[in-house]
Amino acid sequence: MYKLEKFMGKRVLTSSFIDDAFVTAFFTTRDLPLKAGERKDLAEEVENNKKLICEALKIPFENLIIPQQTHSDNVLIIKEKGKGEKGKAKMKNSSSLSSHLSPLTSHSFASKDAVVTNQPDVAIALNFADCVPIIFYDPVKRVVAAAHAGWRGTTAQIGPKTVKKMAEEFSCEPKDIIALIGPAIGKCCFEVKEDVLKKLAASVNNQSEEAFSDNHVDLKLVNKFQLLTCGVEKIDVCEYCTSCQNELFYSYRKEHGNTARHSAVVMINSK
Ligand SMILES: [Zn+2]
Repeated sequence: MYKLEKFMGKRVLTSSFIDDAFVTAFFTTRDLPLKAGERKDLAEEVENNKKLICEALKIPFENLIIPQQTHSDNVLIIKEKGKGEKGKAKMKNSSSLSSHLSPLTSHSFASKDAVVTNQPDVAIALNFADCVPIIFYDPVKRVVAAAHAGWRGTTAQIGPKTVKKMAEEFSCEPKDIIALIGPAIGKCCFEVKEDVLKKLAASVNNQSEEAFSDNHVDLKLVNKFQLLTCGVEKIDVCEYCTSCQNELFYSYRKEHGNTARHSAVVMINSK
């Protein structure tokens, strides 16, 4: 179950499914944009919000990981923090190190629509305006992730691919993983063309019929179905529609493409 709470005096959404001192997880609202998007007038506020969030989370600025999202199915794995350019140089000289080094360079962040880490004090933030945000947490292996599932990412199975990476890289068991499917455009407002509808239906093997009617798709439900199929059992789906509740969230459709972004934020706490 989701509830609105205050974080630094700003409204954020939290889920009762993740109520654990070892992790911080929430979805921001219009109160706390971390990407200005088309709203260039919010650029200064966004930069200030990034600083504020790092202060509140008590982490250095470089530990706030905001990749460039491109509706891809690319997953960034962070196993070591703060390597930066030094790590990159090491990797060039020693291939034996490359298997366990994940240097955090700006290049690493290009075209990534999901991020997974087991590193404490590394905050993942992905940005949204209608697309489906998913936060993952494995309380057994203490691994977190976030994914960006618009219709393209959903057809590319970004959710299950993130779970697979958690399993491959950190031995997570899907049954242990908690998934929060956050605020996104609802079936009420997500009208799509037939080719998109067909692709989304195919992404769940034409099952999950309740997710489809006329030309409308429940993208959150499609993502839930995909996660259930790959063994994730604990899934909290947010009821908010970003277009209907446009006073609370950013909506690309409702605001005709002139909008900022709210965010999914997740971090393993160091203590
Ligand atoms: Zn709606």
